[in-house]
Amino acid sequence: MRFRDARDKQRALRIVSCAGESRLAEIAKTAYIEDRQACLENNESLMELDWESQDLLKGITCFSRVSLLHRYIYAMIAVEHRYEYRKNADLYEEGPELIQGVEDLLRAYEVPFLPYKKFKPVIPVDEASSREEYPFHRWFLSQEESFEQLWEKLTDETFYLLFGNRAFLLRFNQAVAELIGSGKVTIPREFLDDTGFIRRAYLPVWVRDAVYFRDHGRCVLCQVDLSGLLSADRVDHFDHMVALAAHGVNDPCNIQLLCETCNLRKSNRESMTGLRYSPWWSV
Ligand SMILES: [Zn+2]
Repeated sequence: MRFRDARDKQRALRIVSCAGESRLAEIAKTAYIEDRQACLENNESLMELDWESQDLLKGITCFSRVSLLHRYIYAMIAVEHRYEYRKNADLYEEGPELIQGVEDLLRAYEVPFLPYKKFKPVIPVDEASSREEYPFHRWFLSQEESFEQLWEKLTDETFYLLFGNRAFLLRFNQAVAELIGSGKVTIPREFLDDTGFIRRAYLPVWVRDAVYFRDHGRCVLCQVDLSGLLSADRVDHFDHMVALAAHGVNDPCNIQLLCETCNLRKSNRESMTGLRYSPWWSV
C-alpha cells in the first residue's frame, strides 16, 4: 500500500494525532484507509497478505476466528507504519512533537516501550548515510515488538467498526474473490470441491451468533424480522455475500442473514447485500 500523496497525508494525520486525540484519530484513520483500499485498489493491496500461509488458507476455507479481514487490516497498518517511519525518519528527527505523537499512541493503548529519549543510537544523525540509519528509524526497529502489540490492538478496534459495515464487507469480499478467480493466488486442491471452488464448510455457532446480532435478526435484503418473537413461521438462512461458486470464501466476514424467500431468490453465483440498516431510534 502506498499513498500517492503520502507525505502530505501523513503530515496532516500526524497533526491530528498530536492534538491529544491520538487513539480515536488512529482508529478513524485506519478504518478510512481500509475502506478506501478495498474500494479503490482492490486486490492489489490484498497481495500484502501471505497467501501461502497454511493458517490463512485454513482460515478462508474453514471459518477462522482470525478472519481474513483481521489479517488484511493488520497487514495494512504494519505496511503503512513501517513505510512512514523509514521514509519520513528525517521529519521525526526534526520534530520532537511528532515523536511525542507516536509515543502518545503507544501510551494510549498501554503498550510498554522504551521512550525515544532513552534510546542510545549506534549511528548519530549527522553520520547516518540513509534514512534507514536515522536514530528515529533505529529506535522504531528496536521497539518493533511494542509496535506489533499496538497494531494488534488497532486491528481489533478497526475490525469492530468495519464488521458492522456490510457495504464495505461486500467490496472486500468481491476483491478477494477477484484475486482468487484471477489465479494470482493458488488455493490447494484439498480445500476445493470438484468444480474448483472452495468447498462448503460447517458454519460455527459463534459465526451465526455474530452475524445474527450484527444484522439485528433481520433479513438484510427485505428487512423481515427473523427473531421469532412475533411470528414463528420465519426461517433464517446464513448466506455467503459473495457465493462460493463465484470464488467467495468461508470467512465470518462473508456471511449475512437472509430470510428463506430472499435466499431462494438469490442465485448461487450472485454477490449482494442489503444497504439498509435498522436505525437505533427514529428521528
Ligand atoms: Zn428477505
